[in-house]
Amino acid sequence: MRSHSAESPLMPGPLLDVVIIGAGQAGVSLAHALAKAGKRVAIAERKDLGGSCVNFGCTPTKSVIASARAAYLARRAAVFGLRIPTVEIDFPAVLDRARSILMSSRAGIRRSFEGSDNPRLVRGHARLEGRERRLLKVRIGKEILRTSQVVLDTGTRSDLRSIVGLKSVPFLHASNWLDQDVLPHHILFAGGGYIALEMGQFYRRMGCRVTIVDGGDQILKSEDRDIAERLQHMLESEGIQFRLNCRVTHVRKSLGGLAATVEKADAREVFTASHLFVSAGRRANTDDLGLETVGLKPGERGVLAVDEKLATGVPGIWAAGDIRGGPMFTHTSWDDHRILFSQLAGDGKRTTRRIVPYAVYTDPELGRVGATEEGLRKTGRKIRVGLFEMRGNGKARERSEARGCIKVVVDAKTEKLLGASVLASDGSELVHVYVVLMNADASVNVLRDAIQIHPTLAEALQSAVGKLA
Ligand SMILES: Cc1cc2nc3c(=O)[nH]c(=O)nc-3n(C[C@H](O)[C@H](O)[C@H](O)COP(=O)(O)OP(=O)(O)OC[C@H]3O[C@@H](n4cnc5c(N)ncnc54)[C@H](O)[C@@H]3O)c2cc1C
Repeated sequence: MRSHSAESPLMPGPLLDVVIIGAGQAGVSLAHALAKAGKRVAIAERKDLGGSCVNFGCTPTKSVIASARAAYLARRAAVFGLRIPTVEIDFPAVLDRARSILMSSRAGIRRSFEGSDNPRLVRGHARLEGRERRLLKVRIGKEILRTSQVVLDTGTRSDLRSIVGLKSVPFLHASNWLDQDVLPHHILFAGGGYIALEMGQFYRRMGCRVTIVDGGDQILKSEDRDIAERLQHMLESEGIQFRLNCRVTHVRKSLGGLAATVEKADAREVFTASHLFVSAGRRANTDDLGLETVGLKPGERGVLAVDEKLATGVPGIWAAGDIRGGPMFTHTSWDDHRILFSQLAGDGKRTTRRIVPYAVYTDPELGRVGATEEGLRKTGRKIRVGLFEMRGNGKARERSEARGCIKVVVDAKTEKLLGASVLASDGSELVHVYVVLMNADASVNVLRDAIQIHPTLAEALQSAVGKLA
């Protein structure tokens, strides 16, 4: 690939090596890395730099969850021998704190582009406009960029298709919840995935009534049932109500808020609530990208099929982040930039063959890596399972945070770790010991034989290995 600076008389606009559409988690890092490696790069962004994670996803949700946890601890003050007679929630201040944290992250990204023409940040909605000879054309407003390679990193939005009457009621979803400055009285979640669980617990701890409706027969359907049920019971103990095997099918305005029809097999119930939060999955932003001009067709929920190098079927077009299907996390999107750098400017060896950990940021958190026990049992593989209750851990008891458990699953023959679920305080941090073990392809005996600091929650990770049966 070569850099060009001359402009064609036929088509104004610079010639580039790579145009990235979307300044999300993959796009920003990739733009800087490629430019540093000498490629001519432009990156287009139509809204806020940093995409979902910074502007309404990870950053603000984890910020408000921190406020909710502080409220929870304050309410439990007596457990620690303290007196805090009342805990008052200043909801707009909670949101303001989250907004200021996200604004500083967004500003950091903006500064990284200031005064730079490589990578060049172009503001506006970008669309593919077919090819000019071998070059791809990308239109942003009145400008047309010509480039050898295009990386699509356009992210997702809430899937809002499945509820009749949605347009007639105001509703919250993953991208607009931060604009709702008034604390809802009773919020009904349509969909019970990780966003609903995290945000449901947040609103509950802010003092709101919360009902979560989900079509599955357990929350977090890709997790082991025993782990999902424990988490559900913990959330129920805080007053969150669940309606499983149910779907919100219709909504309409009613006195004081809305009435939602919830259907279950052959039964039907009408729920009233002050607010609806639609959390029924995500849909890829691929519908207004001009994909048809290059012969690309998205699949279900707008997802683009890619190979393990993140190449779409069309030469020169790559997809990164949530739109490429598979795990939809900030860290996988960020890792996609390393795969694409490897393909576009490196040795091409890095691919999506990777171990992907993730977490559910409820309290306690669920840190996860690898396969589940149920999934492995279905394959017939010989496994050993270790289950450790957090109440057996000294530090957990000293902190009065002994809810939860750790489950590890190892190959019966090689003793290599195949998967782990850490349902515990700081579970998203703790799970990384297992993540490293799996990446090192090491036996769990490495952890069993290590000395660990006492008292720590991390001792529980070793204790779980000690429970292997
Ligand atoms: C409420 C919520 C909480 C979350 N919490 C976590 C978490 O704790 N941890 C975690 O790992 N993940 C979390 N996620 C998921 C995470 O935010 C996403 O996986 C990640 O941001 C995806 O990054 P991306 O690169 O695919 O796209 P995005 O970060 O969404 O970026 C896409 C960008 O492309 C822009 N764009 C789209 N179309 C065009 C166009 N045609 N022209 C120009 N620009 C365009 C968009 O404006 C956007 O800025 C959360 C998501 C949500 C919604």
